[in-house]
Amino acid sequence: MIKKIIFDLDNTLLMFDDKQIDDYKNVLKNAGFSCENDEAAKIYKAIGNYELQRIKYDKESLINFINNELGTSYPVSLIDSIIKIIGKNWTNNIAPNLIETLDYLSSKYELYVLTNWFTESQVMRLKGAKIDHYFKEIVGSDMCDIKPNPESYEYFLKDTEPSECLMIGDRPDIDLDGALKIGMNGLLYDYKLKYKDTKYDKFNDWKQIKDIL
Ligand SMILES: [Mg+2]
Repeated sequence: MIKKIIFDLDNTLLMFDDKQIDDYKNVLKNAGFSCENDEAAKIYKAIGNYELQRIKYDKESLINFINNELGTSYPVSLIDSIIKIIGKNWTNNIAPNLIETLDYLSSKYELYVLTNWFTESQVMRLKGAKIDHYFKEIVGSDMCDIKPNPESYEYFLKDTEPSECLMIGDRPDIDLDGALKIGMNGLLYDYKLKYKDTKYDKFNDWKQIKDIL
């Protein structure tokens, strides 16, 4: 029987918006750096590449990674600024029909978030979206190992068996495969209907959850 439901954040709870790259431009500008779109896009891409290192997040190691990749010498305060501006601004675009579903699920299960970004930033975003109170804990990749490393999911096993946990996310490879490896259940939010032959149970609209859980 499921006791805990663990949610991915980006493109699961809050949907991604392409205009968000503008926020990187503002960060650079406010920090006194070049505000060329090109430079902002490069930093954005480097942060994506950092995620692929599959290591626990750390501000120092992230700024070193960016500087190595781009041949720059940004200070670690740039990461603080990015964390804050993302936390403040990336709060729109709550997934359609999500709030009613969280009302329903929070009455039956313990809800958590497991996300590959700095906790501080993600907590701010969920607060800004006014959905933070649904979750018992919001866990970023500076608090535990990063998805899809199986150790990431072990964070939730202190008082719970893996079979009592369900991970919900939009990416089978990043969100669900690691959970499955340690014996958790996985449910795919296939909002773009792009996973035809997946081994995971899936849904494409949060309205459907009441029929599943
Ligand atoms: Mg996601």
